Amino acid sequence: MEFKETRVLVTGGTRGIGRGIVEAFAVEGAQVAFTYRSSVAVAEELEEATGGLAFQCDAADFDGAEQVVKQMVKAWGGVDVLVNNAGITRDNLLMRMSESDWDVVINANLKSIFNYSKAVYRVMMRQRYGRIVNISSIVGLTGNPGQANYAASKAGIIGISKSLAKELGARGVTVNVVAPGYVETDMTEGISEKMKENMIRSVPVRRTAVPEEIAAPVLFLASSGAAYITGQVLTVDGGLSM
Ligand code: NDP
Repeated sequence: MEFKETRVLVTGGTRGIGRGIVEAFAVEGAQVAFTYRSSVAVAEELEEATGGLAFQCDAADFDGAEQVVKQMVKAWGGVDVLVNNAGITRDNLLMRMSESDWDVVINANLKSIFNYSKAVYRVMMRQRYGRIVNISSIVGLTGNPGQANYAASKAGIIGISKSLAKELGARGVTVNVVAPGYVETDMTEGISEKMKENMIRSVPVRRTAVPEEIAAPVLFLASSGAAYITGQVLTVDGGLSM
C-alpha cells in the first residue's frame, strides 16, 4: 500500500498502458482519477471497480485539462502524481502524411503534456510535492519510418520533461519519462504477424511487453524511493533500443 491516500491522475486511462497504470495504482491504495476520449462504458466500469474518478476529456483540450484538475482538487484537495499517458498514432510516410495527421498527433501526444503539466503546476508547487511521469516511446529516441509525427511528439515529450524537471526540482516535484518499446495494446494490434516476428527477433528478451510491465516502472518513479531521480528517460523495451 505504498500509495495509500496518494492522489493520482492518469490521462488515457481506459485501455492499454493507461489502464494498467490506473489499476496498478488502485491496487496500491491510491485514489485514481483518469481521463479518456470515447470509451464511456469502459470508463464507467473502471471508475466503479477502482472507486476513482473518470473524466471524458480530450487530452488535446487545454481548457478541459484545467477543468479536470480543478474538479480533482475540489474532490480530493490536490494532485500528487500526474501520469501523461494519452497518445495516438496516424502513421504514414511523410510524403503521404496530411497536415491533419501531423496536427492531431502533435496535439494529442505533446500539447497534452503542456496542458496537464500547466494545470497541475501551481497545485504541485503549493504542495511542495509532486511526481510527473510522461509516457514517451523509444521511437522518440530512435525515429521510425512512417512515424515522423509520432516520433516528433515523443521526442518533444523528453524536451518538455527535462525543462520542467529543472523548473520544479526545488519545489519537491520530479518529472521523468518512461519510454516503452513494443507493448501489446489496441495501438499495436494492427501490426502484421510477420512484422511483429521480425521485430521480436531484434528484442534481446525476445518478446513484447504487457501493460503491467510499463505500469511497474511508472509506479517506481512515482514512489518515495525515486525522490532523487528527475529529468530521466527510462527505456522499458526489453533492450530493443540499446
Ligand atoms: P491504446 O490505444 O491502447 O489506449 C489509448 C488510451 O488513451 C485509451 O484509454 C484512449 O481513450 C486514450 N486516449 C487516446 N487519445 C486520447 C485523447 N486525445 N484524449 C484522452 N484520451 C485519449 O494505447 P496504448 O496503451 O498502447 O498507449 C498508451 C501510451 O503509450 C501512448 O502515449 C503511446 O504512444 C505510448 N506507447 C505505446 C506503445 C505500445 O507499444 N503500445 C509503445 C510506446 C509508447 P479511449 O478509450 O476513450 O479511446
